[in-house]
Amino acid sequence: TTMEAALDHGDFTAYLQPKCDFATGQMRGAEALVRWNRLAEGIVRPDDFIPIFEKNGFILRLDMFILESVARLLAAWKVKGLETVPVAVNFSRLHLNDARYIPQMLRLVDKYNVPHEMIEVELTESVIFNNLTRAQDVITRLHRNGFSVAMDDFGSGYSSLNVLKSLQFDSIKLDKEFLAGFEDNPHAHKVIEGAVSMIKSLGIQVVAEGVETREQADFLRQTGCDLAQGYFFSRPLPADRFETLLKKSTPPAA
Ligand code: C2E
Ligand code: CA
Ligand code: CA
Repeated sequence: TTMEAALDHGDFTAYLQPKCDFATGQMRGAEALVRWNRLAEGIVRPDDFIPIFEKNGFILRLDMFILESVARLLAAWKVKGLETVPVAVNFSRLHLNDARYIPQMLRLVDKYNVPHEMIEVELTESVIFNNLTRAQDVITRLHRNGFSVAMDDFGSGYSSLNVLKSLQFDSIKLDKEFLAGFEDNPHAHKVIEGAVSMIKSLGIQVVAEGVETREQADFLRQTGCDLAQGYFFSRPLPADRFETLLKKSTPPAA
């Protein structure tokens, strides 16, 4: 099929977007985002194909392909002596019902001898809400294996607070809709401030997504938000350009 052939041809690639410290701008992590390079259309973004791959199940293979790409990159950077950062991989809700999920993760990450704490799993809120017990079980097993787990798209659905109550996340990513149009909306300021302080009081790291302007960055820093991800800091980058950033932040060898 087209998808399988595309995978074999290397038409799918992982772009990487930095997660930066609000105060210093320093990179502390990254998120891998899949891109499909189609001859006719050029680079296609995931919103156009992920829903289809979730229907036909191909997403299970694609997510593992992205995980393997990330593990390979982390190993290569280490060989080059670069100071690496933990990289987050998005996993579709379909994995939660797949007994092979964690064994497959372990096989791919261990194949490249990547320390498990360098891999973060991003699960979206809606995923989790569909089956809380199942999610709880998977998160516990990911933790036991040394992986960290982030809740993605916090605040986009109805379930965020209930999910927070029941599950152990290492970090929470505020959905970019949270920030949309906040400039002239006093309620939005209060809601963001409240969410950040509540999450922090649970000892969970807060990551703001979709930070596009200096005003947003300044405001979020004041709320105590830990990390920023967004065009204001950096767009998602192909691996070679991301590597250039790592080189800049690695101190020269003594
Ligand atoms: P997401 O996980 O919420 O990822 C963040 C999205 O916001 C990315 O869109 C990113 O490019 C975009 N973004 C980053 N900074 C900004 C900003 O400042 N402003 C705006 N407007 N957008 C920003 P992208 O790469 O198109 O990915 C869309 C969604 O597709 C992701 O949303 C994620 O849910 C899904 N996705 C991406 N890669 C994978 C993957 O490998 N596996 C799975 N299962 N899903 C993936
Ligand atoms: Ca994500
Ligand atoms: Ca998100």
